[in-house]
Amino acid sequence: MAFFKPDWLLTSIYALQPIDLKRHQINTILTDLDNTLIAWHEPQSSQQLRQWLDLMAQSQIQVIVVSNNNQRRVARAVADLQIPFIHGAKKPLPFGIKQALKKFHLNPDQTIMVGDQLLTDIQAGHLAGVRTVMVKPLVETDSRITHFSRFMEGIIMKQYYRKNPNLQWQEKMN
Ligand SMILES: [Mg+2]
Repeated sequence: MAFFKPDWLLTSIYALQPIDLKRHQINTILTDLDNTLIAWHEPQSSQQLRQWLDLMAQSQIQVIVVSNNNQRRVARAVADLQIPFIHGAKKPLPFGIKQALKKFHLNPDQTIMVGDQLLTDIQAGHLAGVRTVMVKPLVETDSRITHFSRFMEGIIMKQYYRKNPNLQWQEKMN
C-alpha cells in the first residue's frame, strides 16, 4: 500500500501554486501528460494551461513532462508549450523519472511527480524517490487502454479511502 500513497491529493495540476511549492522546497514538477496536463482526446492546450506554465516559469519552477507515450505523440502535444519532456517513461517503473532527474540535474528532494493514475504515475514517483501528487483526471471518460488500470485503481482507492476516511481532494497543497 505504501507505494500507492500519494503525498498530496489535488483537484488538478492548477492547484499547484508557487508559494506552496516553495514552502515545500519544490523547484521542479515532473508531470504526466494525458489527463493530467491535457485531456487525452484533445491535444490542444488550453489558455489556463498556458497561464499556469507562465506562472511557473516566472517563479523559476521547472515543468517537465514524463510520459509513457511515444516521442511523436508527446512532441506534438507539448510543441506549443515549450516545455521539455521524457517519452517512453515505462511508468510504473522508475526509469523515466530517473532519466529526467539525471538529464536535467534535478535534486529528487526538490522534485515532485504529478499524475492522475495511482498505479503508474504515483508508484513510479515513489520508486524513483520523489514526492508525489495525485490529481483528478481532466476528463472522466477514458481511453479503452487504461480501463483495466482504472478498475484496479478503483479497488485500491476504495481501500485507501477506508483506511483514511478524512481524505479529500484538496484545492491547494497543505
Ligand atoms: Mg495520465
